[in-house]
Amino acid sequence: MSKQQDYVLQTISDRGIKFIRLWFTDVLGTLKSIALAPAEVEGAFNEGVGFDGSAIEGLTRRTEADMLLHPDPSTFQVLPWHGDDETARMFCDITTPDGQPASADPRQVLRRALDRARDLGFTFYIHPEIEFYLLKSASPGPDGLEPVDQAGYFDHVPGNVVDLFRRRSVRLLEELGISVEFSHHEAGPGQNEIDLRYADALAMADNVITFRTVIQEAAAEQGIHATFMPKPHSKWPGSGMHTHMSLFEGATNVFHEAGAKHQLSRTGRQFIAGLLHHAREITAVTNQHVNSYRRLWGGDEAPSYVCWGHNNSSALVRVPTYKPEKSRSARVEYRAIDSAANPYLTYALLLEAGLRGIEEGYEIPDEIDGDLRDLSERERQVLGYKNLPMNLDEALALTQESELVAETLGEQLFDYFLTNKQDEWLGFRRQVTNFELQRNL
Ligand code: GLN
Ligand code: MG
Ligand code: MG
Ligand code: MG
Repeated sequence: MSKQQDYVLQTISDRGIKFIRLWFTDVLGTLKSIALAPAEVEGAFNEGVGFDGSAIEGLTRRTEADMLLHPDPSTFQVLPWHGDDETARMFCDITTPDGQPASADPRQVLRRALDRARDLGFTFYIHPEIEFYLLKSASPGPDGLEPVDQAGYFDHVPGNVVDLFRRRSVRLLEELGISVEFSHHEAGPGQNEIDLRYADALAMADNVITFRTVIQEAAAEQGIHATFMPKPHSKWPGSGMHTHMSLFEGATNVFHEAGAKHQLSRTGRQFIAGLLHHAREITAVTNQHVNSYRRLWGGDEAPSYVCWGHNNSSALVRVPTYKPEKSRSARVEYRAIDSAANPYLTYALLLEAGLRGIEEGYEIPDEIDGDLRDLSERERQVLGYKNLPMNLDEALALTQESELVAETLGEQLFDYFLTNKQDEWLGFRRQVTNFELQRNL
């Protein structure tokens, strides 16, 4: 038993914990859970827990695939919403029965990318801004979706349902060891944003999965509905998950260079160049639903074109410049990602895209000032700006050809992902929409 494993066993017995939930996700980042009895935890640490691994493929179950869950003791937390039935959770790594990392486990994909970064001397940190909507209920009323309020960007509405909700969810997150940097009302009615304090990418991917569960729990407690759907309403802004990244070598932020433009080092510029170069082929992962493309092409500060800038709310990549020079910090924000993305695969791909930029010495294009949406198609073409994919079909076609994505996800997960998403596209393609009925009936 490691020290951490001992600590977990001790805590379970000291606190009289009755259920230990083993958490893992499928290829889409959907949380899966098995509840373990306290007496089984020691065995789980030693040997793993057998389960049907087809649960993680994200496909309809075809065959039984024996796999083992190995709880990661560093992720042990007591869940603060279970009342008397004291319940804790641990995230798991998944292996085959002979101990090989399971090829369909998204957490292992991220581990592999982080290991590669570590071999190059880097640690990868993430800070997400997570947006979501709060609705009165999950089903539309007679006038469509009903947001819990009509407030807007940064509005302060003391004592209302959203204020209570945010305080409760921030409290729950802190109890789970997830630090919140700030939270505020977003631009859409009932739309909120919570920004998590930066953490290394694996801890943050776990945190994002936990975050979604906490938000759903807090909403259920108040009899409202929370949704991370990228674009729930055509007239409201979408819910993005802008992601700030930095790369460290020891205690040094390697994106930072004192005196350079935007305090951005050559390594930082190459990392951005990598993100831009590979942006189109990773979009099916950062924006994995049919609905994601309503957000990307719906205006309202979501990016549609591959470009970068600093104070530019239409840019795909942004270098925020509000940090004082002496802080020696610099970070890069990727703004395409939406709140329904799988954080494990997303962070692995962002990292690998950036690392390619560094390893291959990609050149960064010029930054832009204005909004590329104000130019004509022709002007953008002449200037060489490419668009992000316009729908899931186009995104998948780009991903399917991507050596970067195939390598990063591994051939098998790559296949599962594509098959799952092609199914979604085919299902969508057969729909007759309201738009068509209104025009053509
Ligand atoms: N909601 C916007 C998006 O979808 C972001 C708004 C903002 O935080 N500036 O990306
Ligand atoms: Mg923000
Ligand atoms: Mg925001
Ligand atoms: Mg932002």
